[in-house]
Amino acid sequence: MKMNSVINISRINLTYSTENGSLQVLKNLNLSVKEGEFLSIIGPSGCGKSTLLKLIGDLLQPTDGEILIKGKTPSISRKERKFGFVFQDPVLFEWRTVLKNVQLPAEIFGDNHIKAKSQQFVDLVGLSGFENALPKQLSGGMQSRVAIARALIYEPEILLMDECFGDLDEITRDRMNLELLRIWENTHQTIVFVTHSIPEAVFLSDRVAVMSPRPSKISEMIEVDIERPRKISSKNLPRFIEITKMLRDKLEIEF
Ligand code: ADP
Ligand code: MG
Repeated sequence: MKMNSVINISRINLTYSTENGSLQVLKNLNLSVKEGEFLSIIGPSGCGKSTLLKLIGDLLQPTDGEILIKGKTPSISRKERKFGFVFQDPVLFEWRTVLKNVQLPAEIFGDNHIKAKSQQFVDLVGLSGFENALPKQLSGGMQSRVAIARALIYEPEILLMDECFGDLDEITRDRMNLELLRIWENTHQTIVFVTHSIPEAVFLSDRVAVMSPRPSKISEMIEVDIERPRKISSKNLPRFIEITKMLRDKLEIEF
């Protein structure tokens, strides 16, 4: 175990019990995520990517095995507000303005000192001037920015992002990818980013974890040795194309 790893997952299993029987989703899965790292998780649909994120963030408990966040359980870490979540659907309240959507978690927990900082996060995600706009007045990319600002308001050490740009068109997604890297360079958080887009994973990440089909584990770990700061033109680098191809081959083998 590396000294600087912030998330340590050892030999976890996760089986869902349903009316139709049980479904083993994760089997003997190991993963460690380094402090300040941008790690993407990629894998076939239904392999358990969202399940894994929920386990890290204490929205779900493993059937067995251990998850530690800097030596503490996910449950303690969640209570200490170590996690920020961004889901595929931005889940905004349509009657609340941008600023009031960002403030919502702080309002729920009655943390006025956090609430007072909300404008700073609206600015950080590039929404200055839109504080009083309602979600329906925003584009898809702007709605994603609101969801990111809301996740950042407690300045969590770990940002858990689940296919959050999956619904955006390609140009907006590129723009959001650049924006996310800019934010990350400001915040130095550890990011665990689930996606099913190979180029998105390569563009953003320090490492890409490949999940096998169910019952899943991490079958490959690919280091993305492409210099930062990355630009859209980084996608034309021979090394980018090479890593993308390597991942595509590995995912094909998995199918
Ligand atoms: P992914 O995010 O990789 O597409 P999920 O983690 O959402 O996959 O789901 C993995 C598998 O577990 C899928 O087959 C899904 O149908 C099933 N699953 C997810 N959540 C539940 C649940 N709460 N109860 C039963 N089965 C579930
Ligand atoms: Mg999912």
